[in-house]
Amino acid sequence: MKKSLLVIGWFALAIIAPFALAAAVPQGSLLDGVKPGPDGKIDLVTIFPHEDDELNAAGTFMKLKKEDPRVRTHIVCFTLGELSSAKETLNLTPEFQGKIRTKELEAAATVIGVDSLIQLQYHDQGLPKVPPEELRNKVLEVIEKTGAEVVITYGPDGMTGHMDHMTLSKAVAEAFPKSAAQKLYYAAMPKEYCPLVKAINKTGCTAATMCVDIKAEMKLKKLAWYEHATQKFFSGPIHSPDFEFLREDECFNLAASKP
Ligand SMILES: [Zn+2]
Repeated sequence: MKKSLLVIGWFALAIIAPFALAAAVPQGSLLDGVKPGPDGKIDLVTIFPHEDDELNAAGTFMKLKKEDPRVRTHIVCFTLGELSSAKETLNLTPEFQGKIRTKELEAAATVIGVDSLIQLQYHDQGLPKVPPEELRNKVLEVIEKTGAEVVITYGPDGMTGHMDHMTLSKAVAEAFPKSAAQKLYYAAMPKEYCPLVKAINKTGCTAATMCVDIKAEMKLKKLAWYEHATQKFFSGPIHSPDFEFLREDECFNLAASKP
């Protein structure tokens, strides 16, 4: 599919998504069935390739930290994000864009209120070229470093079909059984959207098994999104500060669970 059609498809989905009801998906919590670690804390980590992917769980992270003092949250970002289309709009070199996006993620992480942010130095669109064993080991390393009980990444389809999303999803799914983490969740779509998602990305769709109501966190989530200004205002065909697409819930698929 032409890139422009792909972009238009995602924008169509973005416009429809906030108005559709995910009534069929039960509300839940990422903490369901999770036992605290030896320190009495429950650590959750998002493991994604790009600056702004963490927004998939930003509202949930804010909500959980408010509700449960045992919760600690962590963001791991694997690449520098230097190849986003904003670099053409802004006439940036990939290196400079990478530097800006790293700072944008730091600002977003401050808004989300995470306990740690780990920025790795892999290249945007470069994860498929990394030896799979190296990637798995790196995933294991960050799960251990954060002490995560709960791990969140994209599903095998990568949600948008981005190769970095799909490659990292595979590495996380393979590393998870070897880690001490208890639950693996994929960022997911209510299944009503799956026909449209599949038509756009051609790689499939991860359907949600539960959603988290983040109405109370929407304003701060929006602020976190605004911190990614290169992506919010200078990437894609529509650069409108008033363009809304954030849903009032975040949905996940329980991909693996240990007893
Ligand atoms: Zn991404």
